[in-house]
Amino acid sequence: MTDRYAVIGNPIQHSKSPLIHTAFGSATGQDIEYGKIEGAIGEFAATADAFRAAGGKGMNITAPFKLDAFAYSTDRSPAAELAGAANAIKFDGDRVCAENFDGVGLVRDVVHNLKRPLRGKRILLLGAGGAARGALLPFLAERPAELVIANRSLDKALMLASIGSEHGAVTGCTYQDLIAQKFDIVFNATSASLRGELPPVHAMVFLPGALAYELAYGKGLTPFLRLAQNAGVAHLADGVGMLAEQAAEAFAWWRGVRPDTREVINRLTVPLV
Ligand code: NDP
Repeated sequence: MTDRYAVIGNPIQHSKSPLIHTAFGSATGQDIEYGKIEGAIGEFAATADAFRAAGGKGMNITAPFKLDAFAYSTDRSPAAELAGAANAIKFDGDRVCAENFDGVGLVRDVVHNLKRPLRGKRILLLGAGGAARGALLPFLAERPAELVIANRSLDKALMLASIGSEHGAVTGCTYQDLIAQKFDIVFNATSASLRGELPPVHAMVFLPGALAYELAYGKGLTPFLRLAQNAGVAHLADGVGMLAEQAAEAFAWWRGVRPDTREVINRLTVPLV
Protein backbone atom coordinates (compact mmCIF):
# COMPACT_ATOMS: atom_id res chain seq x y z
CA MET A 1 0.00 0.00 0.00
CA THR A 2 1.22 3.51 -0.83
CA ASP A 3 2.33 5.45 2.25
CA ARG A 4 1.50 9.16 2.36
CA TYR A 5 3.74 12.04 3.37
CA ALA A 6 3.48 15.80 2.86
CA VAL A 7 5.20 19.10 3.46
CA ILE A 8 3.22 21.79 5.27
CA GLY A 9 3.93 25.53 5.11
CA ASN A 10 2.39 28.88 4.24
CA PRO A 11 3.07 29.78 1.51
CA ILE A 12 3.92 26.35 0.13
CA GLN A 13 3.70 26.68 -3.65
CA HIS A 14 7.50 27.22 -3.95
CA SER A 15 8.39 24.01 -2.04
CA LYS A 16 10.75 21.58 -3.76
CA SER A 17 10.08 18.83 -1.19
CA PRO A 18 7.48 16.92 -3.30
CA LEU A 19 9.91 16.79 -6.24
CA ILE A 20 12.77 15.67 -3.97
CA HIS A 21 10.88 12.97 -2.07
CA THR A 22 9.14 11.64 -5.18
CA ALA A 23 12.58 11.29 -6.81
CA PHE A 24 13.93 9.58 -3.68
CA GLY A 25 10.95 7.19 -3.68
CA SER A 26 11.52 6.21 -7.32
CA ALA A 27 15.27 5.81 -6.88
CA THR A 28 14.92 3.58 -3.81
CA GLY A 29 11.81 1.64 -4.94
CA GLN A 30 9.81 2.89 -1.94
CA ASP A 31 6.05 3.08 -2.52
CA ILE A 32 5.28 6.61 -1.28
CA GLU A 33 3.10 9.52 -2.26
CA TYR A 34 4.28 13.01 -1.21
CA GLY A 35 2.11 16.11 -1.39
CA LYS A 36 2.09 19.72 -0.22
CA ILE A 37 -0.35 21.32 2.20
CA GLU A 38 -0.90 25.06 2.58
CA GLY A 39 -1.70 25.20 6.31
CA ALA A 40 -3.89 27.93 7.76
CA ILE A 41 -2.02 30.08 10.30
CA GLY A 42 -2.95 29.03 13.85
CA GLU A 43 -4.39 25.71 12.70
CA PHE A 44 -1.33 23.48 12.48
CA ALA A 45 -2.62 20.88 14.96
CA ALA A 46 -6.01 20.53 13.25
CA THR A 47 -4.37 20.20 9.82
CA ALA A 48 -1.85 17.62 11.05
CA ASP A 49 -4.64 15.71 12.85
CA ALA A 50 -6.63 15.54 9.60
CA PHE A 51 -3.63 14.34 7.58
CA ARG A 52 -2.89 11.70 10.18
CA ALA A 53 -6.53 10.54 10.34
CA ALA A 54 -6.43 10.12 6.55
CA GLY A 55 -3.48 7.73 6.90
CA GLY A 56 -0.52 10.15 6.65
CA LYS A 57 2.73 8.65 7.96
CA GLY A 58 4.87 11.76 8.37
CA MET A 59 5.38 15.40 7.42
CA ASN A 60 8.07 17.90 6.62
CA ILE A 61 7.48 21.31 8.14
CA THR A 62 8.54 24.65 6.76
CA ALA A 63 7.90 28.29 7.72
CA PRO A 64 5.97 29.35 9.70
CA PHE A 65 5.01 26.04 11.37
CA LYS A 66 8.30 24.63 12.73
CA LEU A 67 7.52 25.78 16.29
CA ASP A 68 3.91 24.57 16.05
CA ALA A 69 5.12 21.13 14.91
CA PHE A 70 7.51 21.01 17.87
CA ALA A 71 4.65 21.84 20.26
CA TYR A 72 2.42 19.21 18.56
CA SER A 73 4.97 16.41 19.00
CA THR A 74 5.11 13.97 21.92
CA ASP A 75 8.73 12.73 21.47
CA ARG A 76 11.58 15.07 20.47
CA SER A 77 15.11 14.35 19.33
CA PRO A 78 17.99 16.30 20.93
CA ALA A 79 18.33 18.31 17.67
CA ALA A 80 14.65 19.26 17.76
CA GLU A 81 14.90 20.11 21.49
CA LEU A 82 17.87 22.38 20.91
CA ALA A 83 16.26 24.16 17.98
CA GLY A 84 12.89 24.32 19.77
CA ALA A 85 11.57 23.54 16.31
CA ALA A 86 10.78 20.51 14.14
CA ASN A 87 11.32 20.21 10.39
CA ALA A 88 10.15 16.60 10.21
CA ILE A 89 7.61 14.56 12.16
CA LYS A 90 6.71 10.89 12.10
CA PHE A 91 3.43 9.38 13.28
CA ASP A 92 3.83 6.21 15.34
CA GLY A 93 0.49 5.05 16.77
CA ASP A 94 -0.56 7.79 19.15
CA ARG A 95 3.00 9.22 19.32
CA VAL A 96 4.32 12.08 17.19
CA CYS A 97 8.12 12.00 16.92
CA ALA A 98 9.88 15.27 16.05
CA GLU A 99 13.25 15.78 14.39
CA ASN A 100 15.24 18.69 13.04
CA PHE A 101 17.55 17.70 10.20
CA ASP A 102 18.55 21.19 8.96
CA GLY A 103 21.88 21.21 10.82
CA VAL A 104 22.99 17.68 9.94
CA GLY A 105 21.92 18.30 6.35
CA LEU A 106 24.09 21.42 6.20
CA VAL A 107 27.11 19.67 7.68
CA ARG A 108 26.71 16.70 5.35
CA ASP A 109 26.57 19.02 2.33
CA VAL A 110 29.72 20.89 3.35
CA VAL A 111 31.80 17.94 4.55
CA HIS A 112 30.62 15.17 2.22
CA ASN A 113 29.45 16.91 -0.98
CA LEU A 114 31.73 19.96 -1.01
CA LYS A 115 34.61 18.09 0.64
CA ARG A 116 35.32 20.91 3.11
CA PRO A 117 36.02 19.45 6.57
CA LEU A 118 35.15 21.77 9.47
CA ARG A 119 37.61 20.09 11.81
CA GLY A 120 40.33 22.51 12.96
CA LYS A 121 38.91 25.37 10.86
CA ARG A 122 37.79 28.86 11.80
CA ILE A 123 34.06 29.06 11.11
CA LEU A 124 31.91 32.19 10.98
CA LEU A 125 28.14 31.82 11.24
CA LEU A 126 26.15 34.94 10.32
CA GLY A 127 22.71 35.00 11.96
CA ALA A 128 21.26 33.43 15.09
CA GLY A 129 17.77 32.43 13.98
CA GLY A 130 16.28 28.96 13.51
CA ALA A 131 18.72 27.70 10.88
CA ALA A 132 21.75 28.88 12.86
CA ARG A 133 20.38 27.25 15.97
CA GLY A 134 19.92 23.96 14.13
CA ALA A 135 23.51 24.13 12.84
CA LEU A 136 25.09 24.84 16.24
CA LEU A 137 25.64 21.33 17.64
CA PRO A 138 26.29 19.61 14.29
CA PHE A 139 28.99 22.25 13.62
CA LEU A 140 30.59 21.80 17.05
CA ALA A 141 30.51 18.00 16.68
CA GLU A 142 32.94 18.46 13.78
CA ARG A 143 35.47 20.07 16.18
CA PRO A 144 36.26 23.36 14.44
CA ALA A 145 39.14 25.42 15.88
CA GLU A 146 36.60 28.13 16.63
CA LEU A 147 32.99 28.91 15.81
CA VAL A 148 32.05 32.59 15.87
CA ILE A 149 28.37 33.55 15.68
CA ALA A 150 27.69 37.15 14.59
CA ASN A 151 24.19 38.60 14.76
CA ARG A 152 22.51 42.01 14.55
CA SER A 153 20.83 41.33 17.90
CA LEU A 154 23.80 40.46 20.09
CA ASP A 155 21.69 38.78 22.79
CA LYS A 156 20.67 35.96 20.41
CA ALA A 157 24.28 35.32 19.34
CA LEU A 158 25.39 35.22 22.99
CA MET A 159 22.56 32.88 23.88
CA LEU A 160 23.52 30.42 21.14
CA ALA A 161 27.18 30.63 22.16
CA SER A 162 26.28 29.86 25.76
CA ILE A 163 24.20 26.84 24.68
CA GLY A 164 27.11 25.56 22.58
CA SER A 165 29.90 26.33 25.02
CA GLU A 166 29.94 22.89 26.67
CA HIS A 167 30.36 21.31 23.25
CA GLY A 168 33.28 23.30 21.83
CA ALA A 169 34.96 26.66 21.25
CA VAL A 170 32.16 29.07 20.36
CA THR A 171 31.68 32.81 20.85
CA GLY A 172 28.93 35.26 20.00
CA CYS A 173 29.50 38.81 18.80
CA THR A 174 28.23 41.74 16.76
CA TYR A 175 29.24 42.43 13.16
CA GLN A 176 31.51 45.27 14.39
CA ASP A 177 33.47 42.77 16.48
CA LEU A 178 34.49 40.94 13.28
CA ILE A 179 36.92 43.68 12.26
CA ALA A 180 40.38 42.07 11.85
CA GLN A 181 39.02 38.50 12.14
CA LYS A 182 39.33 36.03 9.24
CA PHE A 183 37.71 32.64 8.61
CA ASP A 184 38.05 29.46 6.53
CA ILE A 185 34.30 29.05 6.02
CA VAL A 186 31.65 31.77 6.30
CA PHE A 187 27.99 30.71 6.44
CA ASN A 188 25.24 33.22 5.76
CA ALA A 189 22.39 31.92 7.94
CA THR A 190 20.62 35.28 8.00
CA SER A 191 17.39 35.70 6.05
CA ALA A 192 18.77 38.90 4.44
CA SER A 193 19.16 37.24 1.03
CA LEU A 194 15.45 36.44 0.86
CA ARG A 195 14.93 40.21 0.52
CA GLY A 196 18.00 40.85 -1.63
CA GLU A 197 19.83 42.42 1.34
CA LEU A 198 23.40 42.05 2.56
CA PRO A 199 24.14 41.38 6.24
CA PRO A 200 26.61 44.04 7.47
CA VAL A 201 29.68 41.81 7.20
CA HIS A 202 32.93 43.28 5.83
CA ALA A 203 34.72 41.82 2.82
CA MET A 204 37.94 41.08 4.75
CA VAL A 205 36.54 38.13 6.74
CA PHE A 206 37.62 35.53 4.17
CA LEU A 207 40.93 33.71 4.57
CA PRO A 208 42.73 32.65 1.37
CA GLY A 209 40.98 29.55 -0.04
CA ALA A 210 37.84 30.25 2.00
CA LEU A 211 34.37 28.87 1.25
CA ALA A 212 31.39 31.26 1.30
CA TYR A 213 28.16 29.33 1.91
CA GLU A 214 24.72 30.92 1.50
CA LEU A 215 21.98 28.92 3.23
CA ALA A 216 19.25 30.36 0.99
CA TYR A 217 18.95 28.42 -2.28
CA GLY A 218 17.86 28.96 -5.85
CA LYS A 219 18.63 32.68 -5.81
CA GLY A 220 21.83 32.69 -7.86
CA LEU A 221 24.51 35.13 -6.75
CA THR A 222 23.01 36.72 -3.61
CA PRO A 223 24.46 39.98 -2.21
CA PHE A 224 26.48 37.89 0.28
CA LEU A 225 27.92 35.61 -2.42
CA ARG A 226 28.64 38.66 -4.59
CA LEU A 227 30.52 40.27 -1.69
CA ALA A 228 32.59 37.09 -1.35
CA GLN A 229 33.23 36.84 -5.07
CA ASN A 230 34.32 40.49 -5.24
CA ALA A 231 36.67 39.78 -2.32
CA GLY A 232 38.34 37.05 -4.41
CA VAL A 233 36.62 34.00 -2.88
CA ALA A 234 36.63 31.21 -5.47
CA HIS A 235 34.55 28.66 -3.54
CA LEU A 236 30.89 29.68 -3.41
CA ALA A 237 27.88 27.50 -2.56
CA ASP A 238 24.20 27.95 -1.82
CA GLY A 239 21.82 25.86 0.29
CA VAL A 240 20.52 23.51 -2.40
CA GLY A 241 22.74 20.71 -1.08
CA MET A 242 21.57 21.40 2.48
CA LEU A 243 17.96 21.17 1.29
CA ALA A 244 18.56 17.83 -0.43
CA GLU A 245 20.56 16.40 2.49
CA GLN A 246 18.01 17.30 5.18
CA ALA A 247 15.37 15.70 2.96
CA ALA A 248 17.50 12.55 2.61
CA GLU A 249 17.84 12.38 6.42
CA ALA A 250 14.05 12.61 6.82
CA PHE A 251 13.49 10.00 4.10
CA ALA A 252 15.94 7.61 5.81
CA TRP A 253 14.23 8.22 9.18
CA TRP A 254 10.81 7.44 7.71
CA ARG A 255 11.72 4.63 5.31
CA GLY A 256 14.92 3.05 6.67
CA VAL A 257 16.84 3.61 3.43
CA ARG A 258 19.04 6.61 2.63
CA PRO A 259 18.71 7.91 -0.93
CA ASP A 260 21.58 9.33 -2.94
CA THR A 261 21.17 13.10 -3.32
CA ARG A 262 23.38 13.85 -6.35
CA GLU A 263 20.68 13.71 -9.03
CA VAL A 264 18.27 15.89 -7.03
CA ILE A 265 21.00 18.45 -6.32
CA ASN A 266 21.87 18.58 -10.02
CA ARG A 267 18.22 19.07 -10.96
CA LEU A 268 17.64 21.88 -8.48
CA THR A 269 20.93 23.74 -8.82
CA VAL A 270 20.62 27.32 -10.04
CA PRO A 271 23.92 28.71 -11.37
CA LEU A 272 25.61 31.20 -9.04
CA VAL A 273 25.73 34.07 -11.52
P1 NDP B 1 15.02 33.30 11.04
O1 NDP B 1 13.92 34.26 10.73
O2 NDP B 1 14.83 32.31 12.13
O3 NDP B 1 16.35 34.15 11.41
C1 NDP B 1 16.73 35.24 10.64
C2 NDP B 1 18.13 35.70 11.02
O4 NDP B 1 18.57 36.61 10.01
C3 NDP B 1 18.22 36.42 12.35
O5 NDP B 1 19.46 36.11 12.95
C4 NDP B 1 18.18 37.90 11.92
O6 NDP B 1 18.89 38.76 12.81
C5 NDP B 1 18.98 37.83 10.64
N1 NDP B 1 18.72 38.90 9.67
C6 NDP B 1 17.59 39.11 8.94
N2 NDP B 1 17.76 40.15 8.09
C7 NDP B 1 19.03 40.61 8.29
C8 NDP B 1 19.79 41.66 7.73
N3 NDP B 1 19.29 42.45 6.77
N4 NDP B 1 21.05 41.84 8.16
C9 NDP B 1 21.57 41.02 9.12
N5 NDP B 1 20.90 40.01 9.70
C10 NDP B 1 19.63 39.81 9.29
O7 NDP B 1 15.38 32.60 9.65
P2 NDP B 1 15.89 31.10 9.44
O8 NDP B 1 17.00 30.84 10.39
O9 NDP B 1 14.74 30.19 9.39
O10 NDP B 1 16.47 31.16 7.92
C11 NDP B 1 17.72 31.77 7.67
C12 NDP B 1 18.16 31.46 6.24
O11 NDP B 1 18.40 30.06 6.09
C13 NDP B 1 17.12 31.81 5.16
O12 NDP B 1 17.78 32.34 4.03
C14 NDP B 1 16.50 30.47 4.82
O13 NDP B 1 16.00 30.43 3.48
C15 NDP B 1 17.73 29.57 4.96
N6 NDP B 1 17.37 28.16 5.20
C16 NDP B 1 17.80 27.24 4.27
C17 NDP B 1 17.48 25.91 4.42
C18 NDP B 1 17.95 24.94 3.38
O14 NDP B 1 17.54 23.76 3.43
N7 NDP B 1 18.83 25.33 2.48
C19 NDP B 1 16.70 25.42 5.57
C20 NDP B 1 16.33 26.47 6.52
C21 NDP B 1 16.66 27.79 6.30
P3 NDP B 1 18.16 39.37 14.13
O15 NDP B 1 18.11 38.26 15.13
O16 NDP B 1 19.04 40.47 14.55
O17 NDP B 1 16.80 39.82 13.68
